Amino acid sequence: MYEPYPTPDIAREHKKTRYSSLWDFAKQDLKLLALFIIIATLIGFGVGYLGICLFIAFATFFVLQLRSLYLVNDWISNRPYDVPPNLNGIWGALLFNVYRSQRQERIVQSEMVELIDRAQSSLVALDEAVVLIDDDHQIEWWNLAAERLLGIQTQDRGRNILTILRQPTFIEYFNHLDQFPDGLKIKSSTSDEHYVQIKMTCFGGESRLLVAHDVTRMHVLEQMRKDFVDNISHELRTPLTVLSGYIETFTDQEDINPRWKRAFDQMQSQTRRMNALVNDLLLLSRLENEKSIAKNQIIEMPSLMNQLFDDAQAYNVDYGHTLNLDIDSHCDLIGSDMELASAFSNLITNAIKYTPKGGTITIGWHDDGNYGYFTVEDTGIGINTKHLPRLTERFYRVDSARSRQTGGTGLGLAIVKHVLMQHNAHLEVESKENQGSTFKAVFPKDRLYDIASQN
Ligand code: ADP
Repeated sequence: MYEPYPTPDIAREHKKTRYSSLWDFAKQDLKLLALFIIIATLIGFGVGYLGICLFIAFATFFVLQLRSLYLVNDWISNRPYDVPPNLNGIWGALLFNVYRSQRQERIVQSEMVELIDRAQSSLVALDEAVVLIDDDHQIEWWNLAAERLLGIQTQDRGRNILTILRQPTFIEYFNHLDQFPDGLKIKSSTSDEHYVQIKMTCFGGESRLLVAHDVTRMHVLEQMRKDFVDNISHELRTPLTVLSGYIETFTDQEDINPRWKRAFDQMQSQTRRMNALVNDLLLLSRLENEKSIAKNQIIEMPSLMNQLFDDAQAYNVDYGHTLNLDIDSHCDLIGSDMELASAFSNLITNAIKYTPKGGTITIGWHDDGNYGYFTVEDTGIGINTKHLPRLTERFYRVDSARSRQTGGTGLGLAIVKHVLMQHNAHLEVESKENQGSTFKAVFPKDRLYDIASQN
């Protein structure tokens, strides 16, 4: 069985120990009393005052017991940690047992203190910052790394952690731990060039354990990757525009040699794919740099839904699906119109692409008072549940050949995920192979703008 705090050996021994039987010691007292009585009887018969002699014998025994009681009391009250006075009989047994149990307690205590010291010194030696925060959000204890990474100083003991780590994102994280399952990355308080990843765990009610480590290297590498993708996408844009311009001109010529026509058509479709890929990469990189996106526009959902529906109908010409629009909410959305329209349109084109001809696709907008739901339901090929967790990864495809055939870039759902993340929303997918899928973008209440309640 798992023991969170292993019991020190001595404590286990202590539990097993049986104290010596009091009866053995009581026998010593009885023997002494018997000796007094015998002597008193003999003397009493000799001098002819048996009663008086017996009285003296009992009185002497009583005085001896009182003296022992006095010594016991004196020891317990004044010198409990000294070796106890040497007493016989029942008082001696009592002293011995009290002394032994006290000694064992002291050994257990010192073992515990040693254990705590060892735990503490190993925490002090850690490269990760460790901070203990009490129920009132005050700093109780921290290690050296916390001073280095988070700038906590000696005078901060007992101060509220939120007055030391004051970044709004940290305050948000502190108040809503459940919304940040992976913790939070913030700039180090001691250096603008360093980044720390913070993870907090609650324990014993409202107390918290904060652990932070330096992720500057990872941050720099991540930034390099983003810059690289961003730069290369920008660099590819101009040559691609030139290429597709020329190819279009050639393809549009009426007297083009039919032998070349097929080649130009293929070149055109491939440059379109590359263009789509470059545009998706640029959009993703813009989404990662969240500051560049204004997320507080009020988006009129009826008009956005109608526009999406019209676009879907145009795209649907080659597929011949039945398209339905189902709006059942008075709420508008608060967010970035371009990004949301692009995410919704990705979900719709996917539904159209991955549904065999003649299927049914329903685009919906609902709310239940707490959440808003943008849904796209199709009767298409569906997705095996094993693929669902990885679906929003970049370039993840269930069937690569099919995806390429349909002109997909493999970035559509990654874009959807990022756009939703920017709006504190998330994607839910339900799907059954060969039966169809439902993609649901779930928006929290504070992203909904209830037109009725505003009038
Ligand atoms: P792609 O450009 O390949 O469509 P996405 O990121 O949009 O890339 O989608 C990732 C993968 O998820 C697709 O390759 C496809 O296998 C699967 N997928 C997405 N939407 C659907 C859908 N509505 N029905 C079935 N599979 C889908």
